[in-house]
Amino acid sequence: MSPSRYAVFGHPIQHSLSPHIHKAFSEQTGISLEYTAIDTMPETFSATLDAFVAQGGRGGNVTLPLKEAAFALCARTSERARLAGAVNTLVRESDAWYGDNTDGAGLVRDLTGRHGLDLRGRRALLLGAGGAARGIAPALLDAGVMELVIVNRTPERADELMDRLGDPARAHSRYWDDLESHGDFELILNATSIGRDAKAEFDLPLGLCNRMTLAVDLNYGNAAIPFLAWARAAECRDVVDGLGMLVEQAAESFELWHQVRPDTDPVYQKLREHDALLVMAN
Ligand code: NAP
Repeated sequence: MSPSRYAVFGHPIQHSLSPHIHKAFSEQTGISLEYTAIDTMPETFSATLDAFVAQGGRGGNVTLPLKEAAFALCARTSERARLAGAVNTLVRESDAWYGDNTDGAGLVRDLTGRHGLDLRGRRALLLGAGGAARGIAPALLDAGVMELVIVNRTPERADELMDRLGDPARAHSRYWDDLESHGDFELILNATSIGRDAKAEFDLPLGLCNRMTLAVDLNYGNAAIPFLAWARAAECRDVVDGLGMLVEQAAESFELWHQVRPDTDPVYQKLREHDALLVMAN
C-alpha cells in the first residue's frame, strides 16, 4: 500500500522546513507518509488542492499567503480557526476539507513549555495582522495576557482583527506610526514578514521595552535577524525566535492527522543546530 500523502502549500515554499519536520515525526512514530512542498498562489489554490486529492492527498499545512484562502475553502472549521479567520491545517473528511489553526497553540506551547515563560498578566504588543497574527492573537488572550495592542502597516487589518477577537476590554488596535505614545510592553511579538526582505531594519522606539520584556519573532533563520537585533539593542530580557513554534504547530497538525503526538524536542534540537549553521553561513 502506498503511504498517505500530505503537503505544505504556499508561495514561496521551496525553503520550507515542514517536509523535514514531518519526515522526522514519521520516522519517530513509525507512521508511513509522504509529505511534500507545493508552490501555489491564492488564484490557483483550489485547483491545486483538487489535483492533490485526486492523487491521494489526505491533509495539508498552509502558509503565507494562503491562510485566509484556506479558511474560505473549508466546509467545516474549528472554533480557533473561525476566531482567526485563517487556516493552517487541512484535514480531508469524505469529500470536503476540515480546517484548523494550530499556530497559536504551537506558539504558546513553545513559550510556556520549552522556554518556561509565563504569559499571564503581560501587556502585549502584536506587530502584524496577517494570517499568522490572526492565528496567534486568540491564543495569547487565552493564555492570559492582560492587554493586546495590535498594530499593522495597513491599519484596517488591525481593526478587523480586533473586531474578530471580540474582547474590547483587552484587545485594541492602534496606529504603527503612533507607537511611541502607547507606553512599554512585557511581551512584543513580530508577526510581520518584514524580515524576509534582506535589507529590512526594525526602526521601533527602544522605549517599547522594559526590564521584563519578552520579544518573540515568529520568523526564524535570517528572517528573524532584524527584529531580534532590535530586541537585543533594546535590552529585552528574553528573546525567542519562531523555530520552536514551527515545530510545535507541526506537532499539533501531525496529531490531528494521525492521533499520535510526536516528541518535538529531538526535532527542535536538530533544526536549531541546522539553523545556527545557516545563519552563520550568511
Ligand atoms: P501574511 O498573511 O502575508 O502577513 C504579512 C504581515 O506582514 C502583514 O501584517 C503585513 O502588513 C506585514 N508586512 C509585510 N511587509 C511589511 C512591511 N514592509 N512593513 C510593515 N509590515 C509589513 O503572512 P503571515 O502568514 O501572517 O506570516 C508572517 C510571518 O510569520 C512570515 O514571515 C512567516 O514566515 C512567519 N510565520 C512563522 C510561523 C512559525 O511557525 N514560526 C508560523 C506562521 C508564520 P499588511 O497587512 O499591511 O500587508
